[in-house]
Amino acid sequence: SFAANLLLTADASPFTLRARPLLQHELDRGLFSAVSTSESSVSLHSLEFKLNGTPKLTTKAFPLDYAFGPESTNEQVYNCTARTLIPIALGGGVGSLFASGQTGSGKTHTMTAMEHLIARDLFQVAREYRAKQDSVDISTVSESADFEFHASFFELLGNKATDLLNYPNELTILEDVQGQVQVKDLAEQKITSPSHLLAVLTEGATRRKTQETMKNSTSSRSHAICRIRIRNMRFSADGDDSEGLLYLLDLAGSEDSADSRAHSKERHAESILINKSLATLKECIRNRALAVLSTKHVHIPYRNSKLTVLLKSAFELSSNVACKTVVVATLNPSVLDTAHSVNTLRYVSPLK
Ligand code: ADP
Ligand code: MG
Repeated sequence: SFAANLLLTADASPFTLRARPLLQHELDRGLFSAVSTSESSVSLHSLEFKLNGTPKLTTKAFPLDYAFGPESTNEQVYNCTARTLIPIALGGGVGSLFASGQTGSGKTHTMTAMEHLIARDLFQVAREYRAKQDSVDISTVSESADFEFHASFFELLGNKATDLLNYPNELTILEDVQGQVQVKDLAEQKITSPSHLLAVLTEGATRRKTQETMKNSTSSRSHAICRIRIRNMRFSADGDDSEGLLYLLDLAGSEDSADSRAHSKERHAESILINKSLATLKECIRNRALAVLSTKHVHIPYRNSKLTVLLKSAFELSSNVACKTVVVATLNPSVLDTAHSVNTLRYVSPLK
């Protein structure tokens, strides 16, 4: 069945890497790339100069599920990552896509491209599914195919959550006695078409960008969290309220908190929280993947940060909900960023 197929595909390949091309301003500065990729690993090259003058080339390889180089297209990256989440979310499961990496490495570039392709396919796959289910021609199926899509978009900076669709409303994250996590008063928009979804996401992204510019910050240290709730209205009519979720996260830059030490005390505290949330997220994703592979109990420490508390449903291990998390780590290939790249790769090359 549809649902059984989903369970089989869950968690198959959570870690993907994309190294962006060098940008014109980097080429102009004479920078060169220290990164090379093969199908499922990425290598970082560095030259060490010995006292006797002979340079030694060292290469460190990091295995991954998929690795994409500067020539990769958005569609290629999508096919191995976000695309696999669509049937899960439509089938009542939880799909999460994370973009992670240092500031300037291409997180937002990649996420924006993924959003376009997700918007296209969410509606397309819903219609295909419905056409098949009803044994009718797809042209007779309405645009939303008896599914209801609701989008929300907010930003998490330290412990402060701000609504990007009802800006600048500050949001409270609540957890009830049953352990259900809710973002209180989070605005939601009912989405009726792919272009509508993109318009809503663009609106939120613009707010985020404006805010960043106003704060005069050179790095983006907030997490942007888009949540799409998907209700299959035919199931709902039968009293089954299973609801699919799709989380799209453009994570904060993974800079060291020392990088922001020059800023105010407040900024520094914020930076520590952000790094803690990234480290906790890493542990949760890693442990969840381990738990799926293992028969032993593996603790998923989602309570250790606001971000992971929010994403609790993405780490659920119940047998009747399909969950899948996919991380796209982005790299700046420049030789000057190798230290950052090592950090990023440690984050996504943990299970191999
Ligand atoms: P981040 O969100 O990680 O801070 P951005 O997505 O803003 O980084 O990317 C930084 C710059 O690099 C932008 O100018 C963007 O257009 C460019 N860029 C990123 N990834 C790619 C890519 N795969 N191909 C071409 N340009 C890219
Ligand atoms: Mg960005």
